[in-house]
Amino acid sequence: MSGAARRKSPRVVVRFLGTGNAFAAGGRGHACILVTAPEGRMLLDCGGSALPAITAACDPGTIDAVAITHLHGDHFGGLPYLILQQKYALRSRPLAMGGPPSLGARFLQVADGLYPGFLDEPLPFELGFTTLHETPVRLGPAEVSAHPVVHAPASEPHGLRVRIGGTLIAYSGDAAWSDALPRLADGADLFICEATTYSTRDPLHVSARELMEHRDELRCGRVVVTHLGEESLAHRGEIGFEVAEDDAVIEV
Ligand SMILES: [Zn+2]
Ligand SMILES: [Zn+2]
Repeated sequence: MSGAARRKSPRVVVRFLGTGNAFAAGGRGHACILVTAPEGRMLLDCGGSALPAITAACDPGTIDAVAITHLHGDHFGGLPYLILQQKYALRSRPLAMGGPPSLGARFLQVADGLYPGFLDEPLPFELGFTTLHETPVRLGPAEVSAHPVVHAPASEPHGLRVRIGGTLIAYSGDAAWSDALPRLADGADLFICEATTYSTRDPLHVSARELMEHRDELRCGRVVVTHLGEESLAHRGEIGFEVAEDDAVIEV
Protein backbone atom coordinates (compact mmCIF):
# COMPACT_ATOMS: atom_id res chain seq x y z
CA MET A 1 0.00 0.00 0.00
CA SER A 2 1.37 3.39 -0.86
CA GLY A 3 1.94 6.07 1.73
CA ALA A 4 -0.82 8.12 0.21
CA ALA A 5 -3.25 5.21 0.43
CA ARG A 6 -2.33 4.55 4.07
CA ARG A 7 -2.81 8.16 5.00
CA LYS A 8 -6.10 8.71 6.76
CA SER A 9 -8.69 10.78 4.98
CA PRO A 10 -8.51 14.46 5.77
CA ARG A 11 -11.25 15.51 8.08
CA VAL A 12 -11.43 19.10 7.00
CA VAL A 13 -10.86 20.67 3.60
CA VAL A 14 -10.21 24.42 3.43
CA ARG A 15 -10.66 26.13 0.08
CA PHE A 16 -9.64 29.76 -0.27
CA LEU A 17 -12.25 31.47 -2.42
CA GLY A 18 -10.91 35.00 -2.00
CA THR A 19 -7.44 36.00 -0.81
CA GLY A 20 -7.23 39.68 -1.74
CA ASN A 21 -7.59 42.86 0.25
CA ALA A 22 -10.45 45.36 -0.09
CA PHE A 23 -8.85 46.69 -3.29
CA ALA A 24 -8.65 43.25 -4.93
CA ALA A 25 -4.87 43.58 -5.35
CA GLY A 26 -3.46 41.28 -8.01
CA GLY A 27 -6.96 40.44 -9.23
CA ARG A 28 -7.66 38.47 -6.06
CA GLY A 29 -11.17 38.17 -4.70
CA HIS A 30 -12.49 39.53 -1.44
CA ALA A 31 -12.18 37.47 1.73
CA CYS A 32 -14.04 34.17 1.67
CA ILE A 33 -12.97 30.71 2.87
CA LEU A 34 -14.97 27.52 2.31
CA VAL A 35 -14.56 24.90 5.04
CA THR A 36 -15.89 21.40 4.40
CA ALA A 37 -16.00 18.70 7.09
CA PRO A 38 -17.99 15.49 7.59
CA GLU A 39 -20.42 17.49 9.74
CA GLY A 40 -21.13 20.03 7.05
CA ARG A 41 -19.92 23.05 5.21
CA MET A 42 -19.42 26.68 6.14
CA LEU A 43 -17.95 29.95 4.97
CA LEU A 44 -15.56 32.12 6.93
CA ASP A 45 -16.31 35.63 5.70
CA CYS A 46 -18.26 36.35 2.54
CA GLY A 47 -16.78 39.44 0.93
CA GLY A 48 -18.37 41.48 -1.83
CA SER A 49 -16.96 39.40 -4.70
CA ALA A 50 -17.64 36.02 -3.10
CA LEU A 51 -20.69 34.67 -4.93
CA PRO A 52 -19.01 33.82 -8.28
CA ALA A 53 -16.23 32.04 -6.40
CA ILE A 54 -18.76 30.18 -4.26
CA THR A 55 -20.84 28.98 -7.21
CA ALA A 56 -17.65 27.89 -9.00
CA ALA A 57 -16.61 25.83 -5.97
CA CYS A 58 -19.85 24.26 -4.78
CA ASP A 59 -23.63 24.29 -4.74
CA PRO A 60 -24.38 27.18 -2.37
CA GLY A 61 -27.32 25.14 -1.12
CA THR A 62 -24.83 22.82 0.60
CA ILE A 63 -23.49 25.63 2.83
CA ASP A 64 -24.85 25.27 6.35
CA ALA A 65 -23.42 28.36 8.00
CA VAL A 66 -21.49 31.57 7.48
CA ALA A 67 -19.27 33.15 10.15
CA ILE A 68 -18.27 36.78 9.67
CA THR A 69 -15.24 38.42 11.29
CA HIS A 70 -16.26 42.06 10.95
CA LEU A 71 -18.54 44.44 9.13
CA HIS A 72 -16.39 45.67 6.26
CA GLY A 73 -17.65 45.07 2.72
CA ASP A 74 -14.70 42.92 1.67
CA HIS A 75 -15.68 40.52 4.49
CA PHE A 76 -19.50 40.55 4.57
CA GLY A 77 -20.61 42.41 1.42
CA GLY A 78 -21.32 39.18 -0.47
CA LEU A 79 -24.10 38.10 1.88
CA PRO A 80 -26.99 39.81 0.02
CA TYR A 81 -25.96 38.12 -3.24
CA LEU A 82 -25.71 34.74 -1.52
CA ILE A 83 -29.12 35.13 0.13
CA LEU A 84 -30.70 36.39 -3.11
CA GLN A 85 -29.26 33.41 -4.99
CA GLN A 86 -30.53 30.99 -2.35
CA LYS A 87 -33.98 32.59 -2.35
CA TYR A 88 -34.37 32.02 -6.09
CA ALA A 89 -32.77 28.56 -5.82
CA LEU A 90 -35.68 27.77 -3.47
CA ARG A 91 -33.44 26.68 -0.64
CA SER A 92 -35.41 25.02 2.15
CA ARG A 93 -32.66 24.12 4.65
CA PRO A 94 -31.83 26.64 7.39
CA LEU A 95 -28.80 28.86 6.93
CA ALA A 96 -27.03 29.98 10.10
CA MET A 97 -25.23 33.31 10.16
CA GLY A 98 -22.87 34.27 12.94
CA GLY A 99 -20.88 37.40 13.49
CA PRO A 100 -20.63 40.73 15.29
CA PRO A 101 -23.62 42.19 17.16
CA SER A 102 -24.74 44.44 14.29
CA LEU A 103 -24.48 41.75 11.58
CA GLY A 104 -28.24 41.24 11.18
CA ALA A 105 -29.04 44.97 11.04
CA ARG A 106 -26.17 45.78 8.70
CA PHE A 107 -27.09 42.87 6.42
CA LEU A 108 -30.65 44.23 6.13
CA GLN A 109 -29.32 47.72 5.29
CA VAL A 110 -26.99 46.45 2.59
CA ALA A 111 -29.50 43.99 1.13
CA ASP A 112 -32.18 46.67 0.93
CA GLY A 113 -29.74 49.03 -0.77
CA LEU A 114 -28.77 46.49 -3.41
CA TYR A 115 -32.13 44.81 -4.06
CA PRO A 116 -34.93 46.92 -2.55
CA GLY A 117 -37.81 44.81 -1.41
CA PHE A 118 -36.29 41.36 -1.92
CA LEU A 119 -36.57 40.64 1.77
CA ASP A 120 -40.12 42.02 2.08
CA GLU A 121 -41.54 38.58 1.41
CA PRO A 122 -40.52 35.71 3.69
CA LEU A 123 -37.57 33.68 2.45
CA PRO A 124 -38.26 30.00 1.65
CA PHE A 125 -35.68 29.05 4.29
CA GLU A 126 -34.83 29.98 7.84
CA LEU A 127 -32.10 32.61 8.03
CA GLY A 128 -30.86 32.88 11.59
CA PHE A 129 -28.44 35.45 12.97
CA THR A 130 -26.31 34.65 16.00
CA THR A 131 -24.02 37.10 17.73
CA LEU A 132 -20.69 35.40 18.31
CA HIS A 133 -18.84 35.88 21.59
CA GLU A 134 -15.78 34.47 23.32
CA THR A 135 -17.85 31.58 24.63
CA PRO A 136 -18.19 29.07 21.79
CA VAL A 137 -21.65 28.48 20.33
CA ARG A 138 -22.98 26.01 17.81
CA LEU A 139 -23.15 27.53 14.34
CA GLY A 140 -24.26 24.96 11.77
CA PRO A 141 -21.59 22.23 11.67
CA ALA A 142 -19.11 24.01 13.97
CA GLU A 143 -18.49 25.41 17.42
CA VAL A 144 -17.45 29.01 16.89
CA SER A 145 -16.19 31.77 19.14
CA ALA A 146 -15.29 35.36 18.28
CA HIS A 147 -12.56 37.40 19.95
CA PRO A 148 -12.08 41.16 19.76
CA VAL A 149 -9.09 42.31 17.70
CA VAL A 150 -7.57 45.72 16.87
CA HIS A 151 -9.12 47.06 13.66
CA ALA A 152 -11.60 49.83 12.70
CA PRO A 153 -13.90 49.84 15.77
CA ALA A 154 -17.08 50.66 13.81
CA SER A 155 -16.64 47.37 11.92
CA GLU A 156 -16.94 45.43 15.23
CA PRO A 157 -13.73 43.50 14.49
CA HIS A 158 -13.20 39.96 15.73
CA GLY A 159 -11.06 36.94 15.04
CA LEU A 160 -12.73 33.53 14.88
CA ARG A 161 -11.95 30.17 16.44
CA VAL A 162 -13.79 27.39 14.63
CA ARG A 163 -13.92 23.80 15.90
CA ILE A 164 -15.06 21.51 13.12
CA GLY A 165 -14.24 17.93 12.16
CA GLY A 166 -11.98 17.52 15.18
CA THR A 167 -9.86 20.44 13.99
CA LEU A 168 -9.41 23.93 15.36
CA ILE A 169 -9.11 26.70 12.77
CA ALA A 170 -8.26 30.23 13.93
CA TYR A 171 -8.88 33.09 11.52
CA SER A 172 -7.99 36.75 11.71
CA GLY A 173 -9.78 38.61 8.91
CA ASP A 174 -8.35 42.07 9.50
CA ALA A 175 -6.39 43.10 12.59
CA ALA A 176 -3.27 45.00 13.60
CA TRP A 177 -0.76 43.08 15.68
CA SER A 178 -1.69 42.85 19.35
CA ASP A 179 -1.70 40.20 22.06
CA ALA A 180 -5.13 39.25 20.73
CA LEU A 181 -3.52 37.42 17.79
CA PRO A 182 -1.42 34.88 19.76
CA ARG A 183 -4.43 34.29 22.00
CA LEU A 184 -6.58 33.74 18.92
CA ALA A 185 -4.09 31.30 17.40
CA ASP A 186 -3.33 29.43 20.62
CA GLY A 187 -3.61 25.67 20.08
CA ALA A 188 -5.04 25.95 16.57
CA ASP A 189 -4.21 23.32 13.96
CA LEU A 190 -4.41 26.03 11.32
CA PHE A 191 -4.10 29.80 11.76
CA ILE A 192 -5.26 31.83 8.78
CA CYS A 193 -4.15 35.43 9.14
CA GLU A 194 -4.26 38.52 7.01
CA ALA A 195 -1.00 40.08 5.82
CA THR A 196 -2.17 43.18 3.98
CA THR A 197 1.31 44.71 3.86
CA TYR A 198 4.78 43.21 3.81
CA SER A 199 6.63 45.60 6.14
CA THR A 200 4.69 48.87 6.24
CA ARG A 201 3.11 49.46 9.64
CA ASP A 202 -0.61 50.07 9.39
CA PRO A 203 -2.76 50.86 12.43
CA LEU A 204 -5.53 48.60 11.09
CA HIS A 205 -3.57 45.67 9.65
CA VAL A 206 -0.69 43.36 10.44
CA SER A 207 2.31 43.11 8.12
CA ALA A 208 3.90 39.85 7.07
CA ARG A 209 7.15 41.00 8.72
CA GLU A 210 5.39 41.56 12.05
CA LEU A 211 3.90 38.09 11.87
CA MET A 212 7.33 36.62 11.14
CA GLU A 213 8.89 38.57 14.02
CA HIS A 214 6.22 37.21 16.36
CA ARG A 215 6.21 33.63 15.01
CA ASP A 216 7.44 32.18 18.31
CA GLU A 217 4.43 33.66 20.08
CA LEU A 218 2.03 31.86 17.76
CA ARG A 219 1.56 28.53 19.53
CA CYS A 220 -0.23 26.85 16.67
CA GLY A 221 0.36 24.48 13.79
CA ARG A 222 0.20 25.58 10.21
CA VAL A 223 0.05 29.32 9.42
CA VAL A 224 -1.37 30.55 6.11
CA VAL A 225 -1.48 34.25 5.22
CA THR A 226 -4.23 35.81 3.14
CA HIS A 227 -5.84 39.25 2.44
CA LEU A 228 -2.78 40.23 0.44
CA GLY A 229 -2.19 43.78 -0.76
CA GLU A 230 0.15 45.05 -3.47
CA GLU A 231 3.12 45.25 -1.12
CA SER A 232 2.77 41.78 0.33
CA LEU A 233 2.29 40.38 -3.18
CA ALA A 234 5.47 42.13 -4.37
CA HIS A 235 7.40 40.47 -1.51
CA ARG A 236 5.57 37.14 -1.48
CA GLY A 237 8.81 35.18 -1.92
CA GLU A 238 10.14 36.68 1.30
CA ILE A 239 7.11 35.82 3.40
CA GLY A 240 8.05 33.03 5.76
CA PHE A 241 4.62 31.45 5.77
CA GLU A 242 2.41 29.67 3.30
CA VAL A 243 0.65 32.23 1.11
CA ALA A 244 -2.95 31.53 0.16
CA GLU A 245 -4.07 31.70 -3.47
CA ASP A 246 -7.58 32.12 -4.81
CA ASP A 247 -9.11 28.64 -5.20
CA ALA A 248 -6.23 26.90 -3.40
CA VAL A 249 -7.26 23.86 -1.36
CA ILE A 250 -5.54 22.62 1.77
CA GLU A 251 -6.36 19.72 4.02
CA VAL A 252 -6.20 19.98 7.78
ZN1 LIG B 1 -10.40 43.37 4.73
ZN1 LIG C 1 -11.60 45.41 7.66
